[in-house]
Amino acid sequence: MTELDEMVSQKTTVELPEKLEFGRVFTPHLFEMDYDEEKGGWLEPRIVDFHNLTLHPAALALHYGLEIFEGLKAYRQVDGKIALFRPEKNFERLNRSARRLSMPEIDINLVLSYLKKLIKMDEAWVPDRDGYSLYIRPLMIATDPVLGVRPGTQYKFLIMLSPVGPYYPEGFKPVSIMATDKYVRAVRKGVGDCKTGGNYAASLLAFKEAQREDYSQVLWLDALDLRYIEEVGTMNMFVVFNDEVATAPLTGSILPGVTRDSVIRILKDWDYNIQERKVPIDEVFERHKTGEVKELFGSGTAAVIAAIYKLKFKEQVIEFPNEPGELAKKLYDYLTGIQYGKIEDKYGWITYID
Ligand SMILES: *Cc1c(COP(=O)(O)O)cnc(C)c1O
Repeated sequence: MTELDEMVSQKTTVELPEKLEFGRVFTPHLFEMDYDEEKGGWLEPRIVDFHNLTLHPAALALHYGLEIFEGLKAYRQVDGKIALFRPEKNFERLNRSARRLSMPEIDINLVLSYLKKLIKMDEAWVPDRDGYSLYIRPLMIATDPVLGVRPGTQYKFLIMLSPVGPYYPEGFKPVSIMATDKYVRAVRKGVGDCKTGGNYAASLLAFKEAQREDYSQVLWLDALDLRYIEEVGTMNMFVVFNDEVATAPLTGSILPGVTRDSVIRILKDWDYNIQERKVPIDEVFERHKTGEVKELFGSGTAAVIAAIYKLKFKEQVIEFPNEPGELAKKLYDYLTGIQYGKIEDKYGWITYID
């Protein structure tokens, strides 16, 4: 028996607190590997005890934002098996982010097989309660101990795991969002379609201002015309009109969400008129007056689907009943049904640990 097998076989059950706030509890192990250009690439992929990092104060990531990450989840299905939802999409996206930021790509098959081992080892931390899951956070940083703006030659890649409770502790509850033309998130041909730290750092001031007015998220508009709906915080955005479901096209300034892609696929199969097109925010306010806007919702790994009951832009506010819209609820039930193994996975989106 290898040391790894021994660790895997030492299963214990872990008492997780009822109230698991997002990203605060971590499992006892990490996956880790280091990159050194001079030594020929990625070295020593390994599973190790959870530990703090030691970085040189000049480490490139700390100064110039050479950092990318991902977010996906493992679900304990109703029969006890552990499922990942389209994990290869997240690692393909990580590699796209890496290329854009001149960072090294990873071997997706290698990392996925280590991720499975890591989850197996910390299996006792995969919650079995409804709506709970194990959040998976891959991270890559440049560690070169040299000041100076340029691509790195040394990197660290790691994966940490964090058990999380349901996004909606009181059940599937709609949220409020505020659009802004005071700040922009990203511009085409920039890095808006990469999961890289700077995008989020730049969004926080608008987020704080929205929270001050009691809105939970910011709705970003396009950076050129300050007019077209882009996305929300960490979610892609869908508008349900009477004759169409519309979402922003992937023109480079929004994050290409795995959930977004799944929603589009499902809606096509359900015979909805789903359009990836530019939606002017004015169109939403205008057509709301004539009763043509049925629902708004966001899509992303954390919440899966978030129904939106209130939208503000400048002096205009529209409100929907404080109940999730019909389509948002149906999509939420369908997607979580596949993730928790309650509904047949007819798309082949589930990958099992084992
Ligand atoms: C992660 C993220 C999303 C959602 O992507 P998923 O793959 O569906 O989780 C959307 N927008 C932004 C800005 C994000 O960071």
